[in-house]
Amino acid sequence: MLRFHFPIVIIDEDFRSDNSSGLGIRALADAIQKEGFEVLGVTSYGDLSQFAQQQSRASAFILSIDDEEFTPGPELDPAVLNLRKFIEEIRFKNADIPIYLYGETRTSEHIPNDILRELHGFIHMFEDTPEFVARHIIREAKSYLDGLAPPFFKALMDYAQDGSYSWHCPGHSGGVAFLKSPVGQMFHQFFGENMLRADVCNAVEELGQLLDHTGPVAESEKNAARIFNADHCFFVTNGTSTSNKMVWHHTVAPGDVVVVDRNCHKSILHSIIMTGAIPVFLTPTRNHFGIIGPIPQSEFEPANIRKKIARHPLLKGVDAKKVKPRILTITQSTYDGVLYNTETIKGMLDGWIDNLHFDEAWLPHAAFHKFYGMYHAMGKGRARPKQAVVYATQSTHKLLAGISQASHVLVQDSQNVPLDRHLFNEAYLMHTSTSPQYAIIASCDVAAAMMEPPGGTALVEESIKEALDFRRAMRKVDKEYGKDWWFKVWGPEKLVTEDIGKPTDWVLKANEKWHGFGNLADGFNMLDPIKSTIITPGMDVSGKFAKTGIPASIVTKYLAEHGVVVEKTGLYSFFIMFTIGITKGRWNTMLTALQQFKDDYDKNQPLWRAMPEFCQKNPRYERMGLRDLCQSIHEAYAKGDIARLTTEVYLSGQELAMKPSDAYACIARRQTERVEVDQLEGRITTALLTPYPPGIPLLIPGERFNKKIVDFLKFNEQFNLAFPGFATDVHGLVAEESADGKKRYYVDCVAQDVPA
Ligand SMILES: *Cc1c(COP(=O)(O)O)cnc(C)c1O
Repeated sequence: MLRFHFPIVIIDEDFRSDNSSGLGIRALADAIQKEGFEVLGVTSYGDLSQFAQQQSRASAFILSIDDEEFTPGPELDPAVLNLRKFIEEIRFKNADIPIYLYGETRTSEHIPNDILRELHGFIHMFEDTPEFVARHIIREAKSYLDGLAPPFFKALMDYAQDGSYSWHCPGHSGGVAFLKSPVGQMFHQFFGENMLRADVCNAVEELGQLLDHTGPVAESEKNAARIFNADHCFFVTNGTSTSNKMVWHHTVAPGDVVVVDRNCHKSILHSIIMTGAIPVFLTPTRNHFGIIGPIPQSEFEPANIRKKIARHPLLKGVDAKKVKPRILTITQSTYDGVLYNTETIKGMLDGWIDNLHFDEAWLPHAAFHKFYGMYHAMGKGRARPKQAVVYATQSTHKLLAGISQASHVLVQDSQNVPLDRHLFNEAYLMHTSTSPQYAIIASCDVAAAMMEPPGGTALVEESIKEALDFRRAMRKVDKEYGKDWWFKVWGPEKLVTEDIGKPTDWVLKANEKWHGFGNLADGFNMLDPIKSTIITPGMDVSGKFAKTGIPASIVTKYLAEHGVVVEKTGLYSFFIMFTIGITKGRWNTMLTALQQFKDDYDKNQPLWRAMPEFCQKNPRYERMGLRDLCQSIHEAYAKGDIARLTTEVYLSGQELAMKPSDAYACIARRQTERVEVDQLEGRITTALLTPYPPGIPLLIPGERFNKKIVDFLKFNEQFNLAFPGFATDVHGLVAEESADGKKRYYVDCVAQDVPA
């Protein structure tokens, strides 16, 4: 039998007393334990909302309602008020857990209806035997626990404990193979038996099939579709990278014109290459911090997209009026948390582009809180487009509780066009292993079930609240420092003093200084508060370099040595997010680590003290002070005008000289040349060139190097030589050591004799 620990929680101030009330409640506790259930007895609620968190660990609550002081009239009774508050806290998160009241002197007539309604029963001790009462409560607790697991997870647990001998793969046979070797034993003990027992292959019929969506897998996908307000949900076990490719392979054929956010994830660019599509890019704005903003609403106007088609170098001689792009893909939630009003986009493009794809890798939580309004792809009760099928691809592992690679494709049928599931599955099969990992499927299932309201709503609300508490705490520190420097969190000036405030506080309004994205259309964009971009000193509002500065890469390296690892680092900003896994402890640790940084910076602490691990790898910095290091990198950035350069390269009018798939084909045909950085201008890349930061592809296969991009690469090369350990990584660059022992950088390009 699988054993779970979900005690029945008793809260009674007499739990440890010698009086009759104490005897009674302990008799009940004993009777429950004799039936094999754990009991956790406490004497007070303590901090109400903290204690209510027990709801996720308990199987039932028994709350005592007898109290010394007795006041007439239930509304005024402090015991009743306390009880109500506690039950409200529980029900805010958990609609189903059984709650019992336990009393001697009081009866239900003392309890207001709104409380009674939430109860599973009222226990009068001494009227029944403790054994009888215990069995009744246990029955409800068991039935509650039985209802927790969603279909696939339940079937998998049943299968894993079933103990049948398997002859099918995986070859480790439920983990047994590991036991035959010492290091295998270690692996087994580390991951535990259940993980290995549950690692089964798709020959197990009772679990259903991911590949053709049958049995418990299908039930779970259906359940998730309902929870996420979609008509269809397909679990994906290889990340949203794969979900995106599935959507594209289902909707795009060679030579098709597609409309794509230039600030998109590599998997979308891979999709362009893979399908042989001709991309028309929509260009996002950028601000002086180098933060990528929204694509202006006007860019979505069909007339403006047509203009781009008419000017497109690969569509010469094509009548732009007759082109119907196959798909629109946008990054719905940029890294920094910028969101689009999806209803506006649907309204603008429905009837022209038949597939609207929102890459919501960072936004699976939005469906569960009204805070996000229309700023996510699929919401409850929203109108369907007439013609356009809507796709949302989400990484459940990024912000929800999926394990790595857990993702799903959500589809909303249009009024006229339902998704043909069978045809979609052809693309699904092309990108799914025939041996999917069942733990990932189970986590897709559980991550969805966790988000079922009210629990899911409460989780998202908590994330937002923690994120705002963090912002408030950062401002408080700033205020205390007065004129002295401190980090800023990027976001609207206005910040509510408590709780989560209104969503409209987060809508980007035209020409506001804080975002710097210029004249944005009304209500088109909002910032997701749970994404926090922290700005380090170094640049003023106009994007000019300040006299002194603190490059973010030093701060994040420092933080890493203090046990705080951030999600992404820019030039003068870095990024953290408040997932549903975040806790007060975590962000408070971040805050104190930043304080320590400031302290060490202000003291110009030598690096061997401030960043010992870093110095071990890079001894040349040992005797430098932290502030001096910041300053010298800052000055190197300023000299190269790198902030502007980084922004401008992305807007440097990259020219598509070949279809991306044709350029890429040169790799297979070995028609490439490895070209040194100095020689790149005018050449066509076969590599996807991606600088980190910001991790957004700069040049895609088929595009030509221009002078700005070459300058950018040259600057990087020099910078990396000057500051080893702080090298900017550019994926797509090939480093080779030449005869003189020097490292040189190259990019693979289309061979010169290949006709463009
Ligand atoms: C991370 C990410 C992906 C890929 O998701 P994985 O689950 O890591 O494969 C796709 N799109 C965007 C915008 C992302 O940030």
